Amino acid sequence: MADRENVIVVGGGAAGTSIARQLSTMLNHTKHNLILVSSRDYLIYYPSLIRTLVERDPPIRSILPPDFTNVTPLYSARNGESTNATSPTIDGGEDNKAPRPVYGDEEYLGRGLIPLNHLFDGGHGKLIVGKVASIVDEGAHGGHITLEDGTELTWSVLVLAPGSTWEGPFALPEGPKEDCIDHIRKWRNKFKRARNIVIGGAGAIGIELATEIKDRYPEKDVTLVHGQDLPMNDFYPQKWRKLLHDRIRKLQIKTIYNDGIDELKVEYNAVTTRNGETLLTDLLVPARGGKMNTDFIKTLGENVLWSNGCVRINPVFQMIYNKRIYAAGDVIEWEEQKQYVKALTHADMIARNVIDTIKREDATHIYRGSKETISLTLGEGKGATYFSHLWGLQFGDSFTTSYKARYADVDYARRQLGVED
Ligand SMILES: Cc1cc2nc3c(=O)[nH]c(=O)nc-3n(C[C@H](O)[C@H](O)[C@H](O)COP(=O)(O)OP(=O)(O)OC[C@H]3O[C@@H](n4cnc5c(N)ncnc54)[C@H](O)[C@@H]3O)c2cc1C
Repeated sequence: MADRENVIVVGGGAAGTSIARQLSTMLNHTKHNLILVSSRDYLIYYPSLIRTLVERDPPIRSILPPDFTNVTPLYSARNGESTNATSPTIDGGEDNKAPRPVYGDEEYLGRGLIPLNHLFDGGHGKLIVGKVASIVDEGAHGGHITLEDGTELTWSVLVLAPGSTWEGPFALPEGPKEDCIDHIRKWRNKFKRARNIVIGGAGAIGIELATEIKDRYPEKDVTLVHGQDLPMNDFYPQKWRKLLHDRIRKLQIKTIYNDGIDELKVEYNAVTTRNGETLLTDLLVPARGGKMNTDFIKTLGENVLWSNGCVRINPVFQMIYNKRIYAAGDVIEWEEQKQYVKALTHADMIARNVIDTIKREDATHIYRGSKETISLTLGEGKGATYFSHLWGLQFGDSFTTSYKARYADVDYARRQLGVED
C-alpha cells in the first residue's frame, strides 16, 4: 500500500464524483490509490434544489411527472456524442400517465443530498472528508496537498473540482447533511412568511426561483432585478430572452432591468438598487451567480488563476504550468455556460487523460466544447428550453417538463453515484 502512488480528486460535486467513479473502474489498484477529498460526504444535487427550497406543503411530489425509471436521462448525451436516450416526446408520451412518486417531507428534503459511500466501483477508492487548504507541486512525480486540519497527502496526479460558493438559500452549509436540511427548512419558512420578495439577478437561478415562488404563492409580490436589458445574458439569443421576459411577466413577476442590488441590506422593509430605486421588500434573495472556490489553488503560485478566479487550463484541462494537475467543472475558464452537464462532460475526458498521464504519455483527449442547452422550469408543468443546435431551437412547457424532469431527476442522479434506493 505504502509504495502505491495516490491519484487524488478534490471536490465531491458533479465533476469530482464522476471522475472518481470512472477512475475507480480504470485504475490499476495494485499500483494506485484513488482518493476523493471533499468538504462534504454527500453531493449536493443542485438541479433539484430550487424546488426543494420553495416547496410549500409536505408531502412533496418529486419534480418527476412520470415514471422515467427505464429511460436514460438526456444529460448522458454529452459533447454532441450519440446517446441511447429516448427522445423526449412533446406531450410526454405514455410515460406521463404513470403515477408521480410521492415522498414524505423528511425523506425528500434529503434526497438531493446524495451520500458518497457507494461511489467507488468495487470499493476501489477512499473518501476523505476535509477541506484542502494548500497545494505543493514538486515536479515530475507530483506533490502534496495539505488539508485544513493539517493532514498531508502526497499525489502523483491531482484533479481539482471544487466548484462554486453560492449565496443566500443556495449557500448550503458544509457540515453534516442535517445542517443542510435545517438550512432548507429555514428558507422554506422565509419564503412562506414573506410578502414582497426581491430577487437580485435574473439568470437561470433567479428566474427559476421567482417562477417557482409565484407558482406556489401567487399572492406574493415577486420582483427580479437584473443588470442587463433582458433576462439571462448575451450568450443566448435576444429572441429567446424576450420570450423569457414575456413568460415571466405573464406570471405577474415584476422586472427591473439595467440595475442591480449591490448591498444585501434590507432597512425599514426596503432595499435600494444600484440606480437608487427603493423597493419595498421583506425578503431579499441574492441570485447573482457563484464565486469560484479557488483561493486554495493560488498556493500553487502566481498566474495559476485568471483575474476572475478561474483556473488556467489547456484544451486537455491540465493546468498551464502544472501538467500533472487537472481542473474540471465550474472552476475552469472556458467559453461556455457553467452547468452540471458540462461538468459531467469534463469528467469523461479528464478520467481518460489521467490514465494517459499515469502511463507517462501525453494527454490526448481534447475538449472541443459542448452544445449549449438550457432548460428552465417556470413553475410546475411550465418551462422554456433552448438548444444551440442548428439555428437555435426553442421549446415550451410540455417539452421542458418532460426534458427537465429527466435530467433533474434526483433518483437518476442517486443511481449514478451507486445509491440504489
Ligand atoms: C440553485 C442551483 C441550481 C442549479 N441548477 C442547475 C440545473 O438545473 N442544470 C445545470 O446544468 N446546472 C445547474 N446548476 C449549476 C451546477 O450545479 C454546477 O454547474 C455544478 O454543480 C458544478 O459542478 P462542480 O463539480 O464544478 O462543483 P460542485 O458540484 O459545486 O462541487 C464542488 C464540491 O467541491 C467541494 N469543495 C469545495 N472546496 C473544497 C476544498 N477546498 N476541499 C475539498 N472539497 C472542496 C464542495 O463541498 C463540493 O462538494 C445549478 C446551481 C445552483 C446553485
